Amino acid sequence: MSDAQQAAADADPEFYPGRVAGDASPGEIDWTALRAAARLIMQKAYAPYSGFPVGAAALVEDGRIVTGCNVENASYGVGLCAECGLVSSLNATGGGRLIAFTCVGPDGESLMPCGRCRQLLYEFGGPELLVDTSHGVVTMTQVLPNAFGPADLSRATRPAHP
Ligand SMILES: [Zn+2]
Repeated sequence: MSDAQQAAADADPEFYPGRVAGDASPGEIDWTALRAAARLIMQKAYAPYSGFPVGAAALVEDGRIVTGCNVENASYGVGLCAECGLVSSLNATGGGRLIAFTCVGPDGESLMPCGRCRQLLYEFGGPELLVDTSHGVVTMTQVLPNAFGPADLSRATRPAHP
């Protein structure tokens, strides 16, 4: 984070771009900061068709916070969930594994990720990813039991294309 960003973060508790958490261990997740980041990015959503803006935020193992918002389209079926932007941001800013995730709807309250996004989160968080829900923090294994994941591809009968 630049000095200017740090100053902005110090002045405004809802300024989180590039914010680095002090401790990224699962037992010390700053859920309040993560939810605030999700609520902030939710305000950037492009949701003129549903009127249902969504914001997502996740803590990366190195302490980064990555966020995403939903982006709709006149061709409704190609709309992007907030998690799509979040995993794109994760990779665009250096990759790594997600360790804690939250998602909020228009009222700022917790939302469960949709079915497709559970698969997106599993790819980048694995079974241990902590997911904030309206009924408490649960693991990705509880959100997506018996998941199909990268390890299943080891059963391929021929090598992947380089
Ligand atoms: Zn989704």
